[in-house]
Amino acid sequence: MVVVLRPGTSQEKIEHLTRWLEEKQLIVREYQGGEQCVLGLIGDTAGIDVDMIRSLDIVESVSETREPFKAPNRAMHPDDTVISTFPGGPKIGGGHFALIAGPCSVESREQLFYIADKIQAAGANFIRGGAFKPRTSPYDFQGLGAEGLELLLQVKKETGLPIVTELMDIRSIELFQEVDVIQVGARNTQNYDLLRELGKLQNPILLKRGLAGTIKELLMSAEYIMASGNENVILCERGIRTYESAYTRNTLDLSAVPVLKNLTHLPVVVDPSHGTGRADLVPAMALAAAAAGADGLMIEVHNDPPRALSDGAQSLTPEQFAELAPKIFKVREAVQTCK
Ligand code: PEP
Ligand code: MN
Repeated sequence: MVVVLRPGTSQEKIEHLTRWLEEKQLIVREYQGGEQCVLGLIGDTAGIDVDMIRSLDIVESVSETREPFKAPNRAMHPDDTVISTFPGGPKIGGGHFALIAGPCSVESREQLFYIADKIQAAGANFIRGGAFKPRTSPYDFQGLGAEGLELLLQVKKETGLPIVTELMDIRSIELFQEVDVIQVGARNTQNYDLLRELGKLQNPILLKRGLAGTIKELLMSAEYIMASGNENVILCERGIRTYESAYTRNTLDLSAVPVLKNLTHLPVVVDPSHGTGRADLVPAMALAAAAAGADGLMIEVHNDPPRALSDGAQSLTPEQFAELAPKIFKVREAVQTCK
């Protein structure tokens, strides 16, 4: 339920109403947008006398949110959420664009530092790299683990680029304290115990859409993190499993971008690398995602794709990335001038 208060309502009156609602076992989220205050009520609102609330002199309107996701719902927070990294670092959402690039897996110090240098020169403002890798086969490269994470932290120190890396297991959470954006991979999107634990942190979480996940399921997973106290959630469309398997690895659902932008206030990032599985398709889909209004892109870049230890087929070379990045910025500009 969403309660919109009249402009200029005093903080004292807002707090009074909030306390009363909290006594009814509801979670109350207060959103201030300019003069207007919106209270989002989460929980069982069945016992609430809506007409009574509507009749209060400080209340402008009351509406029900029919969708099962509450905290990510745009009705609760009409403006786009802007997610910050470290002080002075890049932001994402509300007009701030994240160009996240880097290898699928961190393979060595040399590899990571080389790629970091190239992508930063091309305009990337975040670096990605997996240290703990979710691989389909247990015999494939599983990532460098803690050593890979240490390399990422070093590259951040050297370049100033915030890092994005995947947490697979809650038991390694201690190692992730300094990670700027913690990725929840497609295979873990519905690992609710993991999501609850991530909700106890304040690090931004990049939540990928599940392998065959619906948009609603993605938003319900975001709800788990937010309901546990972490509002810093970034949604990521990374393609879903469909009947096509011959020519693309996944089917990148770009319609999810405007759908999500409409339903939620959270930033939306697109990953055209996993979304297609093919480096030759990445540029077109990256530009299409920017045109669709994405708040960011996550693109795999490898210094030597044929020899990559994971996802070489979908990785751009640094040169290909450098050719693509200015085109992405041009599309962004065009989209903004079209608004
Ligand atoms: C990745 O980003 O390298 C990754 C494994 O992603 P996903 O969870 O989308 O497959
Ligand atoms: Mn990958």
